[in-house]
Amino acid sequence: MTNQLADVVKELAEKQVRFYATHDHPHGQATVPLSCQEVIRYAADPVGYLAEHYRVSREDYLAWHRSSYKVICSGFTKTGKPCKGIVRGLSMVTSPALWVQGQGGRCTKHG
Ligand SMILES: [Zn+2]
Repeated sequence: MTNQLADVVKELAEKQVRFYATHDHPHGQATVPLSCQEVIRYAADPVGYLAEHYRVSREDYLAWHRSSYKVICSGFTKTGKPCKGIVRGLSMVTSPALWVQGQGGRCTKHG
C-alpha cells in the first residue's frame, strides 16, 4: 500500500503536481505545503504529522482545535469554579505552539 502510494506520488511529482494539506484554523483554513516524502507521512497519520510540523504534542494539537483556539483562564471564581474567561490576547491563537505557551495564563480579572 505504502509502496504503491510512493510510486503514485513520485509519478505525480515528476508531472509537476505539488501537494499540500489543509486544516481548520482561527481564520478559516491553513495550508501546509508537503514534499513527496511528507505527503506519504501525512497520509499515514495526518494529526501526528501536523502536530510534529507545529512542534507540539498530538494531544496539544487536538486540544488547540477543541478549544476553538482560545486560552481559558486558569483562575477560579469566588465559588471555586474554574473561570471561563479568556486570557488577554489569546482569543484567536493562530499557532498551536503559542496556544501551548499560553496555558496557565489568567484573564484580566484574575491577572
Ligand atoms: Zn479568570
